[in-house]
Amino acid sequence: MKIKKTYWWIVVTVIGFALACAMKVEADMKENAPLSGVVIVVDPGHGGKDDGARAEGVKEQDINLAISMKLKSALETQGAKVILTRDGAYDLASEGAKNRKKEDMRKRADIINAEPVDLFISVHLNAYANTSIHGAHAFYRKDDVASIELAEEIQKEFNALTGVEKEKKSGDYFILNETNRPGVLVECGFLSNADDREKLCDKGYQTKLADAITRSILSYLHVLTI
Ligand SMILES: [Zn+2]
Repeated sequence: MKIKKTYWWIVVTVIGFALACAMKVEADMKENAPLSGVVIVVDPGHGGKDDGARAEGVKEQDINLAISMKLKSALETQGAKVILTRDGAYDLASEGAKNRKKEDMRKRADIINAEPVDLFISVHLNAYANTSIHGAHAFYRKDDVASIELAEEIQKEFNALTGVEKEKKSGDYFILNETNRPGVLVECGFLSNADDREKLCDKGYQTKLADAITRSILSYLHVLTI
């Protein structure tokens, strides 16, 4: 009888220890990879023949891609699975497409709407006739609470990074209108403004933008940050 009792105590202790270890491993994983299990589409705007905005030889499509690659890397470091809509200087339209822009945008929206995407960031740069206008903006999908919350977090980080106080805005963009996942279109700065343009071309600043967006996503998802 006494042997039996001791035996059960050992079993209970071993199981308890195993459970504690499993919980510790899970907690460590969460701390080291807080975006584990989260699928994010990063959409570098424009591509191929469509440069987007241009100023002093700088093409929006190139900077969008550079920032997006850094964003992918920063998000993956936090454990996210990242899908890029493009990873080079091309668009998504098929050979001989009648309306390249329309088909390109449709394909980007389809990638975002496919399972199991949790959220998306569409990366763009701004340009304006008044070259003194500068700063970064987050655009959300009208009346979409999740998109508004994510834009709020991104705008806070952008304002801290740029030192320019801007408000998030509702955006009437295809990528917001034709998708059904929480998402934000970011205009990371103005190519038409000399200071913004110099910063946007700088790899260190591109990394800062990527880190700012990553922190925003962590805040939006209310997950542990390191
Ligand atoms: Zn653009």
